[in-house]
Amino acid sequence: MRTVYVNGEYLPETQASVSIFDRGFLMADGVYEVTTVLDGRLIDFDGHMARLERSLCELDMTKPAQFDDLLDIHRELVRANAITDGLIYLQVTRGAPGDRDFAFPDPATTEPTLVMFTQSKPGLPDSPTAAAGIKVISIDDLRWGRRDIKTVQLLYPSMGKMMALKAGAEDAWMVEDGHVTEGTSNNAYIVKDGRIITRDLGTDILHGITRAAVLRFAREAQMEVEERAFTIDEAKAADEAFITSASAFVTPVIDLDGAAIGDGRPGPVAQRLREVYLDEMRKAAI
Ligand code: PMP
Repeated sequence: MRTVYVNGEYLPETQASVSIFDRGFLMADGVYEVTTVLDGRLIDFDGHMARLERSLCELDMTKPAQFDDLLDIHRELVRANAITDGLIYLQVTRGAPGDRDFAFPDPATTEPTLVMFTQSKPGLPDSPTAAAGIKVISIDDLRWGRRDIKTVQLLYPSMGKMMALKAGAEDAWMVEDGHVTEGTSNNAYIVKDGRIITRDLGTDILHGITRAAVLRFAREAQMEVEERAFTIDEAKAADEAFITSASAFVTPVIDLDGAAIGDGRPGPVAQRLREVYLDEMRKAAI
């Protein structure tokens, strides 16, 4: 049985609970982060904590603990659950004021709720899906307008994932005003004539921690990067496509809406970036 963390306590998962008045439960009033563990060490922890701080700040939410303490909790959960490869999920909500009200509770009397748990994923970096590449479909982006904040309101991305599975694909790319925003839980890229193209940062996509690292490595390797929106037609005519996220790293996309991308196999740029990303991030893991 897993050991999880709830508001200052390490507990067996069956004994951990939060209030029915928690605003995460009632209002999706919460933010989260997912940090990958490889060989028992945390990948890009500082990046995830910096984004957590930003999400909290944008929503006027109290920081539940100092980052040094959060690092200790991450490490203790890795140890207690003997995680070699896997994920650590962290969620902060605006707490449980003891009633339901649209107005935010006073932070002086309502403390944020902090929950953390692990998911073991043995062999995560050697996933056969990543080696084969994934199929995606395009769907309308019907999410709210502050996708740069990593909130727990994941109903539409979850519906998108179901639409993809029903269509025989692994994921969906969301489209707004004729341009791809991102995948249901990842950032989206195409490669054309050696140039890597991915949507520019703004409020319409999540600022992926993996995206930042991958673009840094690409530029260091003298690859050309264009941060701009692209269309589904451009993606269909691209040489390659791929996605990035903390748990998928860099994963090739080989098919979009039933049309093969490039020669329908994982492309060299995606494969190279995946290798570089995994090598460099393992070296820097803490
Ligand atoms: N976009 C969305 C909508 C996501 O949910 C995620 C994963 N949380 C990402 C992009 C990728 O972000 P990261 O690289 O930080 O995992």
